[in-house]
Amino acid sequence: MSVVVVGAGIAGAACARALAAAGLDVEVRDRARVPGGRMASRELGGRRVDLGASYLTARDDRFVAVVEDWVGRGLARPWTDTFHVATPDGLGGTKTGPLRYGAGGGLRSLVVDLLSDLPVVPSTEVGAVGPGPTVDGRPVDAVVLAMPDPQAQRLLDDGLVAEREAVAGHDWEPVLALAAGWGARRWDDRFDGCFVSGTGSDGGPSDVLGWIADDGRRRGDSAPVLVAHSTGPFAAAHLDDPEAAGPELLAATMRVLGVDEPPQWTSVQRWTYARPAAARDEPFFLGPHRVGLCGDGWGSARVETAYLSGRALGERLASQLAG
Ligand SMILES: Cc1cc2nc3c(=O)[nH]c(=O)nc-3n(C[C@H](O)[C@H](O)[C@H](O)COP(=O)(O)OP(=O)(O)OC[C@H]3O[C@@H](n4cnc5c(N)ncnc54)[C@H](O)[C@@H]3O)c2cc1C
Repeated sequence: MSVVVVGAGIAGAACARALAAAGLDVEVRDRARVPGGRMASRELGGRRVDLGASYLTARDDRFVAVVEDWVGRGLARPWTDTFHVATPDGLGGTKTGPLRYGAGGGLRSLVVDLLSDLPVVPSTEVGAVGPGPTVDGRPVDAVVLAMPDPQAQRLLDDGLVAEREAVAGHDWEPVLALAAGWGARRWDDRFDGCFVSGTGSDGGPSDVLGWIADDGRRRGDSAPVLVAHSTGPFAAAHLDDPEAAGPELLAATMRVLGVDEPPQWTSVQRWTYARPAAARDEPFFLGPHRVGLCGDGWGSARVETAYLSGRALGERLASQLAG
């Protein structure tokens, strides 16, 4: 039995592991050069910077065990349970929540770890999935699309009616991520991250930023690097030319943290499908053609959700193929 998993994000990795654990022949394909998907870490300013997911949290016992294993092997690290709240004018108090984990090698390294024993084919864009099922015209025993709904929709043949219906009509919000590096920390050295909301004293720019993280503190190397995420509406207005939005994102970031010295470098990453606009109750979809759909779209926009979705689909598909 051979299964093709399209998407080497954490959902695809978790799914592929579950399939391989059941003895199935599985291959993971991704259009990107490296695995990780939205758990993206890019080399900037001489070190890796997390440009997608900021951190991960773990509540479900199955994911807690995975995270504890990563921590035990030094791949993941407890970061903080406390962030600041902020308005566009500056930092306010702090808010405590669940423990957030980062990764010294960037969050992508955790997906790479999940995929370590599995065949991954990078730089391979899958163009069509059809009834049968087929992947780019070739028959397989089953196929999994582990990616945002709009990306899956593009691949699904008209003959896959239930699958197309399952992904249709689900909106996804964009985000722009600004990374900026300084020669030395120009903000409070106890700052880990802040959620930005509300209105500034001059009426703006409240709609620009949603979140700022200290990348050096979450990664554990203390590098003076910030990553700021835009709001969805701001990103939507700048999707055609994300770099042009950089100065506004930077000015808003510096204002919140009271930084007056410009950074040495900046970079803007566009996430057209950063997060599902609404949560679903079903953990995955598996139709009559043995075409499965999973990812954070099947739940909420979190790493843990994506992992559990992929794993649950892999386990269900394995037992279906075995029967
Ligand atoms: C800016 C941002 C901030 C976030 N912050 C957090 C956070 O702090 N905490 C948290 O828990 N979660 C956060 N998330 C959400 C988290 O990143 C996602 O929930 C999770 O990474 C989704 O994993 P996935 O495997 O479902 O999808 P993805 O990671 O998107 O993986 C899909 C993969 O499919 C591939 N692909 C798509 N189409 C094709 C094709 N045709 N052929 C081949 N390959 C294809 C893509 O290249 C990609 O690698 C954030 C996301 C973003 C974008």
